[in-house]
Amino acid sequence: MPVEPPIATPTSLADAYAVLAGSTADDPITPIAGGTDVMVRITGEIGAPPARMVDLSRLDALRGITVDGGAVILGARTTYTEIRRSDACREHLPALVAAAATIGAAQIQNRGTLGGNIANASPAGDTLPVLLVLDAEVIVGGARGERSIPVADFWVAYRRTALAPDELILRIRIPVAGGREARFRKIGTRRAQAISKVVLALAWREGPGAATAGPARAWTDVRLALGSVADRPIRARATEAVLEGVAPTPATANAAAEALAAEIHPIDDVRSTADYRRAVAARALHRMIRDAAGW
Ligand SMILES: Cc1cc2nc3c(=O)[nH]c(=O)nc-3n(C[C@H](O)[C@H](O)[C@H](O)COP(=O)(O)OP(=O)(O)OC[C@H]3O[C@@H](n4cnc5c(N)ncnc54)[C@H](O)[C@@H]3O)c2cc1C
Repeated sequence: MPVEPPIATPTSLADAYAVLAGSTADDPITPIAGGTDVMVRITGEIGAPPARMVDLSRLDALRGITVDGGAVILGARTTYTEIRRSDACREHLPALVAAAATIGAAQIQNRGTLGGNIANASPAGDTLPVLLVLDAEVIVGGARGERSIPVADFWVAYRRTALAPDELILRIRIPVAGGREARFRKIGTRRAQAISKVVLALAWREGPGAATAGPARAWTDVRLALGSVADRPIRARATEAVLEGVAPTPATANAAAEALAAEIHPIDDVRSTADYRRAVAARALHRMIRDAAGW
């Protein structure tokens, strides 16, 4: 039978930090936001259940979506439904909206939060490749103050993050200036309630076109990130190099797909095989390039 662990429900960040001052790596106090990951662990059937918890549901400082200084800033407790309904996200972050729309189903989207997806650090977390290609920063805080961690440095190993045991994720800052385009693609068993077999995000800017012979304009600042193909979300830098500075032609897409199949080293697990993941990642990338280029 699940045993309900002791839980504190602070109403201010200062109180939350005071609670978390007692949280250590050996004896952590587990934050709970939407609970859609934590509650799965509560029975103890999947790993150790949390021994002590801190409920974030009264912390309004972790809510809200604002546009400020060339960035969209999302509170850690922002839900997927809020992302989908946000005018700012729809205008500036369509790839994040697309990712939010694939997570779980309506019930999970109503409760699950962006901060929870980031802190949970699953290699299959669907928003994580999007955050990587958009250069998001995770602003974390605790009794010692606030600090900003680039997402590229946030997931340090399998399900391990750069967050200290006494810190919370406060907000996520995603720069939007500079005409960057981004796309999202998830491959799962079903359209809803499916954990990713492979998830990709691709971002680029359109260059002046001088490097291209045809009408298509060259891509610059190309970023490609994937989930479910390694122990954490990763950038595929060799494949990015194939796409950088050239137009997204069929020949480029073929070369990029081939490069991606060679670059990633997924594993066999209960959701998929390594061979399938490699093949489908390459095909999905090819399709994303084709759709973006319009041929
Ligand atoms: C049926 C089902 C379907 C799902 N489908 C998907 C899917 O398609 N794609 C996907 O990516 N995920 C999916 N998930 C997983 C989950 O919904 C997401 O990871 C979600 O974003 C977790 O957010 P949460 O607020 O519920 O996190 P919680 O469960 O509250 O917390 C998750 C982890 O993050 C920590 N945490 C939460 N907030 C903070 C914070 N502000 N600061 C520090 N630590 C924090 C918690 O301590 C915990 O370790 C699914 C889950 C279920 C049950």
